[in-house]
Amino acid sequence: GDGNLGILCAETVGAKHIWTQSEETYLRSLATLVGSTFASQKRKETAEKLKVALVQAQDAAIAKSQFLATMSHEIRTPMNGVLGMLELVELEPLSKPIEKKVAIAKSSAHSLLGVINDILDFSKAEAGKVELEHIHFNARDLIGEIAEAQAFTAQEKGIEIILDLVSLEPSHLMGDPGRIRQVVTNLISNAVKFTSQGEVVVSASIEKTDQDLLLNIKVKDSGIGITEAKQQQLFTPFSQVDASTTREYGGTGLGLAICKQLCELMNGKISLASEPGKGSEFTATMQVAEGIEKERTIPNINMSSLNVLVVDDNETNRLVISQQLGHWGANVTLASSAKQALELCAQRIENDQPMFDIAVLDMQMPEMDGMELCKVLKAHDDYKAMPLVMMTSIAGMEGAQRYSKIGFQAYFPKPVTTADLISALSVITSSDSTEPLPLVTPGYISSLRKEKSDTPAKILLVEDNPVNQHVSTLMLKKLNCEVILAQNGQEAINTLSEHNGGYFDLVLMDCQMPVMDGFDATANIRDGMAGDEHKAIKIIALTANAMDSDKERCINAGMDDYLTKPIQLDILKEKIEQYF
Ligand code: ADP
Repeated sequence: GDGNLGILCAETVGAKHIWTQSEETYLRSLATLVGSTFASQKRKETAEKLKVALVQAQDAAIAKSQFLATMSHEIRTPMNGVLGMLELVELEPLSKPIEKKVAIAKSSAHSLLGVINDILDFSKAEAGKVELEHIHFNARDLIGEIAEAQAFTAQEKGIEIILDLVSLEPSHLMGDPGRIRQVVTNLISNAVKFTSQGEVVVSASIEKTDQDLLLNIKVKDSGIGITEAKQQQLFTPFSQVDASTTREYGGTGLGLAICKQLCELMNGKISLASEPGKGSEFTATMQVAEGIEKERTIPNINMSSLNVLVVDDNETNRLVISQQLGHWGANVTLASSAKQALELCAQRIENDQPMFDIAVLDMQMPEMDGMELCKVLKAHDDYKAMPLVMMTSIAGMEGAQRYSKIGFQAYFPKPVTTADLISALSVITSSDSTEPLPLVTPGYISSLRKEKSDTPAKILLVEDNPVNQHVSTLMLKKLNCEVILAQNGQEAINTLSEHNGGYFDLVLMDCQMPVMDGFDATANIRDGMAGDEHKAIKIIALTANAMDSDKERCINAGMDDYLTKPIQLDILKEKIEQYF
């Protein structure tokens, strides 16, 4: 080869000998032969060693993924308890100071979850375990919404976020809106974080390539900027410009590394131009496909007609999920193991009851896990039509599509927000079999939400109490709704009659009122007293009494849904989104 392995010596014994050319050639060949035998032996050894090293590396990668999966489970399980319980505490009447403390606890829990998600995301991408979704979304709405979510922080710092989406054409696309959201959120939040005056300009455009479309998103700020020497480093994990930045601004230094991985995964890239003191401009590109323009929204369902089976071995999780669902009126049956779940299903058949409308299964359970239970259910004639939701605290390490293949309709990493859970149940239970649904995931749900129109909802508020009138109006205005007030049921009927059908999107109806109460008013509206065009208008009861009998009375009176007082802003928001 290209080096010396050793020296081969030939000596004559006896009289002096002059080596001939052919003897020299012979010796050279001998040396080459010995050398190549020796080298091939070495190669063999090296190859052996490489094989061993490869196996070791693969083992290490598997061990790492397993470690992450376990950690993710271990961290998410208690987080589910913490967040779920905080959500429930928030629903109770609280004094102002306690309310504030709960809000702080909730926001801290969310930031902790953010950090955990970052670490997991990064490791998942590194291990090649990120699966992209391929669903329709409206890029204009998506980017608008992300910018809007950051607008408050920006406003507080006195900087402005400017959106330029003129060249974003077409805007109905197909791809992974959840991952795109992650990249854009990160870039905008960095831009806001490192800018103290001026503006952040977010512009998006579409570039047509040979096969597909390239979504191009630029985020330009007038902030502190980054020196050239540091620019390339930023995309490596855990790197920040310097330690003082971390102290001043916080952060894990993982954001840009994840953005880079995600862009590359979507066949795009991320780049940066910056000048210290003047500002930075990050450009991210991602491959997408053209989508179809189609109105798709989250359907409205009457939760109180829904029988849900929840299977989870963890008691806290069972409590959280059943209370979350119960709050919206669903009838929840709990099972602490797969065995018990099967018994409960068998019981329903024995008692001639219809099968559960939907079952929510936990993945990690002793004896029989969620996947095995799914296989058993799908193999049984009586149970196989029941839609199944996989809920796991192993954040996607297994790959969502695998669940879809064995028969799950939805896949949710824990902790699950109530809004997501309800939306998923609505989508699944009201889907008809003519159009197959993709696997319902949080990403899919939020893509549905974004397709809603942004004209304000027109709401008829029927309420006699002046304080409640004031509070509810303020909340509704905060939610960008137009409010018209009626003092009692009779006035509500009069107001509806004076308007065309379709003018009001929703009626919020108090129950106890003078002249005509909410129950009678609803019955009269359903009978056509406010005109035929208002017979089917959506009516949500506002009840002060959270007793089950009271809720039943609302539904029996013909109302579509109910909200318990005191009204919480986020629940009101969810309800309005659900019906509007
Ligand atoms: P972090 O979570 O710490 O923000 P990132 O990976 O998102 O992690 O960013 C890494 C570092 O890059 C930041 O700590 C900051 O020093 C620098 N950086 C990112 N974006 C900007 C920006 N728009 N202007 C100035 N510096 C930035």
